[in-house]
Amino acid sequence: MSKKEIPSRWIYDYFSPFEVHKHAIKGTLYYGNSDFQEIAVAETECFGRCLILDNEFQSAEFDEYVYHESLVQPALLLHPMPEKVAIIGGGEGAALREVLRHKSVKKAVMVDIDEKVVECSKKYLPTFHNGGFSDERTVLLFGDGREFLEESNELFDVIIMDITCPLEEGPSYKLFTKEFYELVKKKLSVQGVFAIQASTTSPIALNTYSILNRTLSSVFANVFPYAAYIPFFAINWGFNLATDSLDPTLLNRVEIDRRITERVKGELKFYDGTTHQAIFNLPKYVREALTLQTHINLDNSPLTEKFPGRNE
Ligand code: SAM
Repeated sequence: MSKKEIPSRWIYDYFSPFEVHKHAIKGTLYYGNSDFQEIAVAETECFGRCLILDNEFQSAEFDEYVYHESLVQPALLLHPMPEKVAIIGGGEGAALREVLRHKSVKKAVMVDIDEKVVECSKKYLPTFHNGGFSDERTVLLFGDGREFLEESNELFDVIIMDITCPLEEGPSYKLFTKEFYELVKKKLSVQGVFAIQASTTSPIALNTYSILNRTLSSVFANVFPYAAYIPFFAINWGFNLATDSLDPTLLNRVEIDRRITERVKGELKFYDGTTHQAIFNLPKYVREALTLQTHINLDNSPLTEKFPGRNE
C-alpha cells in the first residue's frame, strides 16, 4: 500500500463552508486513493486512530463504540433471535464486531464496495474489528451493497447500513432511496429489522435526516428515529430503525438489560436499558422537523450532499 503524509498537523472536519472542527494529529498512517474514494488513516492527539474517506470523518478509536453500538445493538436486541445478519458498508469492521458479539448469530455477511478500506482497517485499525474479519461466521464480500441485495437469494433477520453519507459523486447515494429500501424489505425475514446511519441531527442541518426518515416511512410500517452524541464528530448523529412488526419503544430498561446479559458476549460501553431511553427520545426540534418533512428520496432524483445533513 502506498503511503503519503497528510500535509499538516491539523485535520479539518468541515460541517459546512462556515463551520469546522479541527483535530491535531500525531501522524499519518495511510493516505491514498482507491477506485472509489480518497482514504486516510491518521493518529489524532485526542481520539486515537481515525478513518477519513473523501474528507468525511468516519470514526475514531476512542469513541467509535458510541456510533457502532448505537447502529447495531438496538436492532439486534429488538429481534427475538437474530441468526443471519447483513452489513452493507462497515469498512472498519466495527459494526461486524458488534454483530458478532451476539451468541445467536450464525452468519454475518459484510459487503463493502472498497477492498482497500478493509485492507487499511485490518492493518491499522485492529481495535475496531477486533478479529471479526477472521471469525468463522463472517462472510466478507466486496461489491456494491445494492447489487449484492439485488442478486442475493437469502433472507436476513437484520440488515445494517453502515455506508458513507450520500456524497455527490461518492459510491453510496443510490443506497438511500425509496426503491433501495423496498429492495431491503424484500430481503428481510418475518420480524426482520433494518437499521441505518442517517447523518446528523444538528438543528441547522436536518434535511438529510428528515428526508431519510420520511423515505423509510413510505416503505416500512414502523420507523423509529434515534440519535447519539458522537464526541469525535462534535455533533449528534442520527439513526433509524425500521420494521414491520416490532417496536423498540415498548422495551423497558429492565428488558433491554436482561437481553444484553443473556445474548451479548463481552461488555457494552454505551448501550444499555438506560441509554436506550435517552437515545430514542429525541428533542422537540428534531421531532418537529420529522413531522414537517414531506420529501421522499427517489432513484430518479436522489439526494446528494456536500456536507453532512446539508443537501440543498
Ligand atoms: N461511520 C461511517 C460514517 O460516518 O458515515 C460509515 C462507516 S464505513 C467506513 C462506510 C463504508 O461504506 C466504507 O468502507 C465504504 O467503502 C462503504 N460504502 C460506500 N458505498 C458503498 C456501497 N455502495 N456499497 C457497499 N459499501 C459502500
